[in-house]
Amino acid sequence: MDIEKYKQRFDQTIKSKGLSKSDLEELKIEYLGRKGIIRQLFSTLAELSSLDKKKYGPKINEFKNYVQNTIADIESKLEQNSKTFFDPTLPKLSFKKGSLHPITYAVEEISSIFSKIGFVRMSYNEVEWEYFSFSALNIPPDHPARDDVETFFIDYPKDKKLGHLLLSPHTSSGQVQEMLRLKQPPIRMINIAKCYRPNWDTTHTPMFHQFEGLCIDKGINITHLKGTIEYFVKHYFGQNRKIRLRPYDFRFTEPSFEIDISCAVCSGSGVYNGSNCRVCKSGWLELGGSGMVHPFVLRSGKIDPDVYSGWAFGFGVERVFLMREGLQVDDLRVFYSGDLRFLSEF
Ligand SMILES: [Zn+2]
Repeated sequence: MDIEKYKQRFDQTIKSKGLSKSDLEELKIEYLGRKGIIRQLFSTLAELSSLDKKKYGPKINEFKNYVQNTIADIESKLEQNSKTFFDPTLPKLSFKKGSLHPITYAVEEISSIFSKIGFVRMSYNEVEWEYFSFSALNIPPDHPARDDVETFFIDYPKDKKLGHLLLSPHTSSGQVQEMLRLKQPPIRMINIAKCYRPNWDTTHTPMFHQFEGLCIDKGINITHLKGTIEYFVKHYFGQNRKIRLRPYDFRFTEPSFEIDISCAVCSGSGVYNGSNCRVCKSGWLELGGSGMVHPFVLRSGKIDPDVYSGWAFGFGVERVFLMREGLQVDDLRVFYSGDLRFLSEF
């Protein structure tokens, strides 16, 4: 019975190298397993005389306990080391950090630019009455914008005065409500809200964001409009950008203008590297609509157009964001597709 030989072999293995967890598992199988050395020793015991059984039985047990305790000791040391060991050369653990949506950042920035010149941030209802979205804004009942191809109507009983309920198709729905809320000018509002229209293609999403400036006081004229938009453009797009006003026709402003901003790629010249600028084609990019608030709209808000005047503009948040970043996104729907490869770029 060569117990001492096995013990020496076991001790040698233990001392020979730094044992890992898997080495210990192997050792357990080799010595304590079902077909292990200790089982084999016990089975040879059966062939011995009763005198030898009494002699060797306890020795095998002693060896078994020794192997078990030694392995358990090393295991607990390994456990201890793995808790206290700190390796400063390892790369840091990286946690996936979330971020706000790029449009949320844009909304915050626009809001802060206007708050510096005294504009109060508002967000009017996403579910709105037809009256505030159209009638109060001088948009007649037969106007194409009031068609259900252009606006989401809500299946809800019609109100005699306010008409149908709908999803607000533009931030202008807040104009008259702000006038009624404040009752008395001066009014300086920046209304940033979600808007809804039933369009779904590469340049339209059914939900989008607009920001709308409204300024009403005594003696307000077009120069104030131009100055304010110029202030915004220089702070949002950069000091070297210029704007121009182009006559247009909107129902709720008179006179009305489209506002263009000079192209950053060709610096407003329309020519880039000797050929036509591909971004703008003419040197200018369309920013959005604006104009002097129509007297009809002021009267809807119970403001006397003979005493007060004002201007309004409405721009798309997604649009200005893409224009500033210089992004040529060929499908606007990527903003709301939830694709992290796009969203994590910002
Ligand atoms: Zn250009």
